[in-house]
Amino acid sequence: MYEQSDTVLFGAPFDSTASFRPGSRFAPRHMREDSCGLETYSPYQDRDLENTSIFDAGDLELCIGDTRTALAQIEGFVSQLLHEKKRPVMLGGEHLVSLGAIRAMSKQYHDLHIIHFDAHADLRDSYLGTELSHATVIRRVWDILGDGRIYQFGIRSGDRGEFFWAENRVHTQKFNFNGLEDTVNALRGKPIYFTLDLDVLDPSCFPGTGTPEAGGVSFSELLDAVLLLKPLNIVGFDMVELSPPLDHSGVSTATACKLLRELLLLGSV
Ligand code: MN
Ligand code: MN
Repeated sequence: MYEQSDTVLFGAPFDSTASFRPGSRFAPRHMREDSCGLETYSPYQDRDLENTSIFDAGDLELCIGDTRTALAQIEGFVSQLLHEKKRPVMLGGEHLVSLGAIRAMSKQYHDLHIIHFDAHADLRDSYLGTELSHATVIRRVWDILGDGRIYQFGIRSGDRGEFFWAENRVHTQKFNFNGLEDTVNALRGKPIYFTLDLDVLDPSCFPGTGTPEAGGVSFSELLDAVLLLKPLNIVGFDMVELSPPLDHSGVSTATACKLLRELLLLGSV
C-alpha cells in the first residue's frame, strides 16, 4: 500500500540519448518479471524484503525522444514523492534519467552529496552536440551541486579532458572502490543520493549494457562496496544502464535484481 510505504520504487524507461546500443528502456519491466525468481531473503544481510514496506509505482510514461520533457516528468514525480515523505528508488533507463531525480532531490536536500559507481566518468560538458546525454549526466549534476560533493568509484573510461577537469572538483576513484570506507566515514549523517551505473561491473558478468567496458569489478566486489554504504543516510538511489535485449542469457537482469534487493534492504532493520 502506498500510504504505508516509506520507499517507492518506479521505472524510468528512457534511452533516447544512448550513443551506442539502446535497450535500457526495457530494464524495469524485465526486472519486475525476473525478480519473481529471486528470494526475498538476503543471506548477506540477514534481512528479508517481506519485512519492508516498499511500494512499486510502476513505470513512468516518459516522452521518448524529447529529453527535456522526459527529465521534467521524472523531476516532477520525484518531487511529488519527496513531498509525500517517500524515499524514491528509480530503475532506468539510461544514466541521464538520474539528472531528473537529482534535480528534485537537490531542492529538498540542500546538502545533498552523490555517490556514483560507473565505468564511465560521465563528465563531458557536451556529447554528440547536446549537453543532455548519458555521457554528460554527472557534469550536469555538478552544475547543480558544485565542487566536492560528488564521489565517483570504478571509473575506467573517459576522455583526457574529463579526468583533468575532475581534479579538485569531483572525487574520482579510478578502477576500483579504494577509499570508499573513508568516504562513507566522511559523509555519515549527510543526505546521500546513490547512483549505480551497472556497467561498473565487468562485461563478463554483466554483458547486458549499452556501453560495455572491459576491466570492471566483479559482482562480489560491487556487493561488498554496496554493503559498505549501510551507515549512510541514503535519501534516494537509482540503478541504470541495464539493457536486457543485449543479454539473452538473462544473467545481467538477474544480477541487477539481486543488487536491487541488497540495496532495498540496506536501510531496513
Ligand atoms: Mn553512466
Ligand atoms: Mn557507464
